[in-house]
Amino acid sequence: MQNKFFLSIVTSLALIYGTGANAQETVSKPLFDDYFKNNTMRFDFHHAGNSTDERYYFDRVIREGEWAGSAKSLINPFDYGEQQFRIIDTATGTIIYKNNYCTLFNEWQTTQEAILTERSFPESVIFPEPKSDFTIEFHARNKSSKEWEKKYTQKIKIADYNIHPCKKQYESIDIHIGGNIANSLDIVLLPDGFTAEEKDKFIASCHMWSDALFSYAPFTQNRRRINIRAVWAPSVESGISIPGQNDWKETLLGTRFYTFGSERYQMTEEFQKVRDIAANAPYESIFILTNTDKYGGGGIYNFYGLGSAGKTGRTGEVYVHEFGHSLMGLGDEYIEIGNTVSALYPEGKEPWEANLTRFVNFNGKWENRIEEGTPVPTVITPGSTEKEWKIGAYEGGGYLEKGIYRGWPECMMKALTDFCPICQEAISRYLEYICE
Ligand SMILES: [Zn+2]
Repeated sequence: MQNKFFLSIVTSLALIYGTGANAQETVSKPLFDDYFKNNTMRFDFHHAGNSTDERYYFDRVIREGEWAGSAKSLINPFDYGEQQFRIIDTATGTIIYKNNYCTLFNEWQTTQEAILTERSFPESVIFPEPKSDFTIEFHARNKSSKEWEKKYTQKIKIADYNIHPCKKQYESIDIHIGGNIANSLDIVLLPDGFTAEEKDKFIASCHMWSDALFSYAPFTQNRRRINIRAVWAPSVESGISIPGQNDWKETLLGTRFYTFGSERYQMTEEFQKVRDIAANAPYESIFILTNTDKYGGGGIYNFYGLGSAGKTGRTGEVYVHEFGHSLMGLGDEYIEIGNTVSALYPEGKEPWEANLTRFVNFNGKWENRIEEGTPVPTVITPGSTEKEWKIGAYEGGGYLEKGIYRGWPECMMKALTDFCPICQEAISRYLEYICE
């Protein structure tokens, strides 16, 4: 059933994974009140290069609204993603905030186009506003060693009058409020391709998104620490651009199908515009609902997720699948028949995704959850039912048939069923961190 069905095929296309490399680095735990105001700061830049090279160009700094993240979880301990940024107190050199993410640029780097030409993509990160002058550092994984490498540094003076204010101009609507902002995961849903007359349709789609999310464990049992808000911002035209059919629409966020030549890969390259609209609500995680019946979407870790809002097929399941990517970078667990080699998951390198292993660092994943007596690798007994399945290491995942393993026969990240026990536990740990 695979595959074309799922949308994030490209999601990882670019990613060349490693075990991460900061084991030796020690970072003390900064106290929020010592270093930060309860305000969000945003750093916009351009990420440019080609398949082998990347550069960063400063754009602007913006002061947004209330900080929606935790006041305790300031140093992301999960070694996920291809990119990392650090906020350093300039006076003392202390790392006061660190977070990881992936971007559309990372994926573009694996395309044929990136071998032949150079491009730039607008990017942006958010963090709590420092009280004092700070330095922002960007790190990226080295393509072969997978170690983090420092790529760019910029010093910011907090009194600089060039720091932009943020003007809120759109309505924020509560869809589900489970808890307070600081100790909850705050999700913002954004519309694209809905005209002023289609507000009700968008809000109905937001409720469908929320219902879908809470119908899957472990989100079901975490309702009380998840907030979902929608920002209502109409587009000039109804629908979404389909470049492959020469069908272009003028929409708020510029979402389009045929991203990097893949018809169903629906994304936008206007990420700073996405941030502009998201800033109308307190948020940590962005999901875009597009006004189209055409099947498509995508999800990138700590960047944004996106799905078609049209009620076709398994819309709710696709939302949740893509959210698995965008919330915490869960990998796709499905295979593509005949696919045996992948630049995404090179042999001898452990994927950074929590739900895939190549046994390079299995110990750091779910190895200790396998019961004694369960063979590794684990084989599905033909005709067995879910009740009889055990946590193991089942071959196939990350689009590859061989050499890469998942922990359970089926999963939301494989076949749009319930999340497997490995993903459920990984999501729960991530929610613990975000909601601390
Ligand atoms: Zn899973």
